[in-house]
Amino acid sequence: MVEMSKHMRDSLQNVPSQKIFDFSQFTSTIDDIIQLTIGEPDFNTPEHIKQAGIQAIENNHTHYAPQRGTTGLLKAVSGYLKDTTGVDYDPQTQILVTNGVTEGAFAALNAIVNQGDVVLVPTPTFSIYTADVAIAGGTPVEVDTSPANFRLTPEILKPYLAKYGDRVKAVVVVNPSNPTGVAMNQVELDAIADLVRGKNIFILADEIYSELWYDGQAASITKSLPEQTILVNGLSKSYAMTGWRVGYLAAPKDVVANIFKVHAFAVTDVSTFVQDAAKEALTNGREDYRPMEEAYIKRRDVMKSALSKMGWQCTAPQGAFYIFARIPDFLDQDDEQLAYDMAKKAKVAATPGSYFGKCGEHYIRFSYATALDKIQEAMTRLAKYCADQRK
Ligand code: PLP
Repeated sequence: MVEMSKHMRDSLQNVPSQKIFDFSQFTSTIDDIIQLTIGEPDFNTPEHIKQAGIQAIENNHTHYAPQRGTTGLLKAVSGYLKDTTGVDYDPQTQILVTNGVTEGAFAALNAIVNQGDVVLVPTPTFSIYTADVAIAGGTPVEVDTSPANFRLTPEILKPYLAKYGDRVKAVVVVNPSNPTGVAMNQVELDAIADLVRGKNIFILADEIYSELWYDGQAASITKSLPEQTILVNGLSKSYAMTGWRVGYLAAPKDVVANIFKVHAFAVTDVSTFVQDAAKEALTNGREDYRPMEEAYIKRRDVMKSALSKMGWQCTAPQGAFYIFARIPDFLDQDDEQLAYDMAKKAKVAATPGSYFGKCGEHYIRFSYATALDKIQEAMTRLAKYCADQRK
């Protein structure tokens, strides 16, 4: 048999992401299961955005697009970032349209990470980051944020910066957070920026939930440190556009030039008509998220109160659409076994916390990007399961 690449085998060995795929595969085989696993809005893409995509196809915008992105979308992204972060990004040299945040983060990390470099990944976190760093030949180091209620504080980060010194190439900051729903404010982000300012360290800022921010004004670490930040964002969550596969990245010019090389060889460009739809979203759809956000807040409150009554400890998320709940003492403390058991017996699928990093053991992530009636039914099933386990 022909051998797989040794690098791929070794580097991905300790990455939990694969388990997420296996778990989803398993839960999809159970009839009548309620999925609280998925990080995908159940809303459809707003009508005017769909029409912009349809119109683009009608107008034969179906050829290759410029590799960095269409002029229209690059300008729309630049305008959006100026309005939301106050930072001026030149559309032609400092922005890149990507195949979602997933591709943007992958291209960025592959462009900046050298063999042996360390990337600090505050955990629990969305699974791509440890995988991307490993694929790039670097060493992902999990920074356990649980002592600070899952907030990244200078006290948490400093020892890691001291321990790994010059080997640290980047710090990942996902804000608001998947899986915890924590949203750090500008003062907290400024404090993190101060720690790396002037050092040879990037901040890789994932702000995909920037619109789903329930309390007050959205903060952005690029406001604090644009010269060292690689900002990745996209339209999947805020505009209910997961299947369109479109996002963008903004960074200093020379950094974008290098990331562009990875992007151009990996995906060439993002579909032309998809970019037309994304331009419509960022230009005329800035308020589209509001009714969705209202619905998420209602669902969050229902889910949180039901879980608390059952004995799960959870704080109210300030953004995104997940509750990261501590497993009550009377249930199996192995998060993975428990999630499989809940799926089989209660027909409720929710993601084991350890799939987001080691410190997520003893937690389960519940997504509330699901209709309210389904959430209510899931909570009824789960309450019965908990009652049975207590016996
Ligand atoms: N970043 C975070 C923090 C996420 O939670 C997700 C999806 O769950 C993504 C990125 C994926 O984004 P995209 O659909 O733009 O690739």
